Amino acid sequence: MSDDAPASDRFGEFDLIGRYFAPLATDPGAFGLTDDGAVFDVPPGETCVVTTDAMVAGIHFFASDGARNLGWKLLAVNLSDLAAMGAAPLGYTLDFALPKGWLPAQTDAWLSDFSRGLMQCQAQFETSLLGGDTVSTTGPMTLAITAFGSAPKSKVLRRSGAQVGDMVWVSGTIGDAALAVKIRQGWTPPNGASFPHADKRLDMPFPRLALGQSLRGIATAAADVSDGLAADLGHICEASAVGAEIRFADIPVSAELRALVATDPGLVTLILAGGDDYELVFTAPAAAEAQVRAAAEAARTPVYNVGRIVAGQGTVAIAGPDGKPIELDCLGFAHF
Ligand SMILES: [Mg+2]
Repeated sequence: MSDDAPASDRFGEFDLIGRYFAPLATDPGAFGLTDDGAVFDVPPGETCVVTTDAMVAGIHFFASDGARNLGWKLLAVNLSDLAAMGAAPLGYTLDFALPKGWLPAQTDAWLSDFSRGLMQCQAQFETSLLGGDTVSTTGPMTLAITAFGSAPKSKVLRRSGAQVGDMVWVSGTIGDAALAVKIRQGWTPPNGASFPHADKRLDMPFPRLALGQSLRGIATAAADVSDGLAADLGHICEASAVGAEIRFADIPVSAELRALVATDPGLVTLILAGGDDYELVFTAPAAAEAQVRAAAEAARTPVYNVGRIVAGQGTVAIAGPDGKPIELDCLGFAHF
C-alpha cells in the first residue's frame, strides 16, 4: 500500500492496512504490505498473465449489496479472467476509493466485511494480496483489483484460436446471475418465488480456474461469460475470424430458470444475453472431445457441447428449440 495519500482525515491509512489488509498478504513476497512494492516469482518456463477489473457503485453493483459479497466478487471476477486464459493465480493488488463523507464507524464496519469476503475468496483459490492503495473520493465508491497469474507461454488460452469445425463448449449453468439481477431491478417472478441459488450465483461467482488450467493445450480459444453467452462467444468469433452456430436446447440451464422460461419464453434473453455467470465458453477440435471431457472431469466441472464453429465473421447464430433462429435485440450488457 502506498503512503502518499491518507484515505481521510478521520482515519489513519496505516491503521486500516494493518487491521484489515495485512492479514490478506499471506504471500511472503508481499512483505506484510510494509515495503514500497512486492515481489513474486513466475514458475520456470511460464509467463505472467495480468488482468484488471474495476467496479463502481451504482453501475456494477447495488448500494444494498453486502460488503462481504463485494469483496468475494471483486476478486472472483478477476480470477475468472485468469481462468479464461488458462492461468493459475500468483497474487493481486487492490485499489479502492471510499466516499469522503463516511463516518469512521461506517468505514470500519465496511472494511471489516469487505476484507472478510476477500479472505474467503483468496483462501478458496489459494492466492494472496500483494499491495494496493486506498484513497477517498467525492464520487461513488470505486473498487479495482489487478490479478497476476501464470501459464506455460505456449499454452495461454486466447480468444483468437477457434477453427472452423471446432466444437463450442460451456461450463456450469448459464443465466442464473441475470435472473437475480432482473429480480433486484424490480421484476416479480410468478407466485413471488425467491431464487437463492440465483442470488448466490450473482453475489459469489465461482471462477473456473481448475477448468481453465486443465484445458491448456486442448482448447483452441476461451473466454469467461461476463457480458452474456452470445456476446462472449461473439468475442471469440471476432478474434478468430469465424462464426458459431449454437443450439439453445443444449445450453446448460438450472432447473429453476428452465421452469421460468417455460412459463415466459421472453426470459430466454437471460440465458443468451445475461452476464455475470463467470462460466467458461471455449472451443476445441471435434477430435479432442474425449480430452475435453477428461479435462472437465479432472477439474470437477461439468461442461456441455452447445454447438460448433463455422465459417463467418464474428456472427453467432442461435437455433431455438423449434429449430428456428432466435434473434436477440441486445447482445449482452452495455456498460455505457
Ligand atoms: Mg473476461
